[in-house]
Amino acid sequence: MADSRFIEQAYSRLRNALASRDDSTLPHSESLAAAIASIPQFGNVGYLAAHGPDATLDYLLTTILPALNGQALSSRYFGFVTGGTLPIAEAADNIVSALDQNVQMHLPNETASTVVEDAALKMLVSLLDLGVPEDWPGRTFTTGATASNIMGLACGREAVIAMRLQPENARNTVAEVGILAACQSAGVRQLQILTSMGHSSLTKAASVVGLGHSSIKELPVSKEEPWRLDIDAVEDELAKDGVASIIAVSAGEVNTGRFATNAVEMRKLRNLADRHKAWIHVDGAFGAFARALPKTEEFSYLHAQSAGLELADSITVDGHKMLNVPYDTGIFFCRSSSIQTQVFSNLNAAYLSSQTTQILSPLNIGIENSRRFRALPVYATLLSEGREGIVEMLSRMVRLARGIADFIKISEGYELLPSQEASLDSTHIIVLFRAKHAKLNDVLVQKINETRCMYVSGTTWNGQKAARLAVSSWRVDVMRDLAVVKDILTGLKA
Ligand SMILES: *Cc1c(COP(=O)(O)O)cnc(C)c1O
Repeated sequence: MADSRFIEQAYSRLRNALASRDDSTLPHSESLAAAIASIPQFGNVGYLAAHGPDATLDYLLTTILPALNGQALSSRYFGFVTGGTLPIAEAADNIVSALDQNVQMHLPNETASTVVEDAALKMLVSLLDLGVPEDWPGRTFTTGATASNIMGLACGREAVIAMRLQPENARNTVAEVGILAACQSAGVRQLQILTSMGHSSLTKAASVVGLGHSSIKELPVSKEEPWRLDIDAVEDELAKDGVASIIAVSAGEVNTGRFATNAVEMRKLRNLADRHKAWIHVDGAFGAFARALPKTEEFSYLHAQSAGLELADSITVDGHKMLNVPYDTGIFFCRSSSIQTQVFSNLNAAYLSSQTTQILSPLNIGIENSRRFRALPVYATLLSEGREGIVEMLSRMVRLARGIADFIKISEGYELLPSQEASLDSTHIIVLFRAKHAKLNDVLVQKINETRCMYVSGTTWNGQKAARLAVSSWRVDVMRDLAVVKDILTGLKA
């Protein structure tokens, strides 16, 4: 009983502390300094002394909490693509912590967790219009899009080499004999990843799975549209002898929000990949959610750009961004549960079942063995909001981004990137811009963030500094937030 009283008080005090906080994006510098100064130092007297739960809770609420940023609390934290946390998702996440389920084995007579997890994944297939659940027999929750990209490259690497093994060498897969021996056995002298403005985590993933940073080849259509993948260049690369390729499609480029392909190009890529034994991995961390938007004129351009992604072999989606569930939640979909199992199986015993409706034990299809029940906040969010509620939330984000892009386009002091002329229809949730005045542009991001009423990320575009604004919180109110953003940007210009 004492434990539940403590937890109850902790939550109620947390809510009070949050309610009395101004809805700022960044903490005050004094709060930051105080928190950092409070951290115990190795070697000091009292280091690792026990303070007890009550004193520790006091300390967390009064010293640490004020030093954390407001990314989940503010509708105008436009940095990175962070998402927020819907109240139902936070409540579900607290259940996850309270029960501390270890979702690694499918044990339906002992816990419903894997059944819930699989149900959430199936709902996501439907929400993102990716076909039917049977199209994605390989599916799992990950810690985020980076982990999903690692899985995509690992599955791709496994498949493109396996496809080149002669029947008598069929067992010399990467999973069995390692990448060096498998490549030798398959006559592969080079592995490459073909992309256009792949996310930085793709480069990390390339290193983790043993392909290396330099295996990534950028194949942009043009200097003006570097996010678009040059399909003809892909074809030339795929035709090279002794080279095996993974095509990594940026479905939502992180600076511009733009898409590497459209429906026609994805169809071409699919045919090319089939002909040349390549693997198509789509990084749709936030971009995949464009597919869930209403099928109306307003969003028809985004639908056209995000069409065809369902033709991929594997797809990365983030939960902790657009879906507004807490960290750490990523999703991985794969066409082939056998390839996925081959790579990630925790047992030496071969996985024998061909029943795609059966729920696979997460420890055999993902990076971790012990893992958090991160599916529950997703399940709860989808049940609570339904397709309609999610779509309404996503539409609001796009409308705010477009409102801001429109303001920047017609403003005197700012320039919309990557193109001032681009139609607003091409804006998803990211707005890239710069100040026309070089002096203001130099300090633009800092000046915006100093207002503490709005937060953006700095980036560079064509070698020049730029500000990048990403709308991803369920808290967005289009009229209210647009007015604040306009005020701030107008004030800076003056
Ligand atoms: C955020 C993001 C990632 C990395 O995702 P994490 O969830 O931070 O691991 C990968 N790709 C794209 C396109 C992203 O936006």
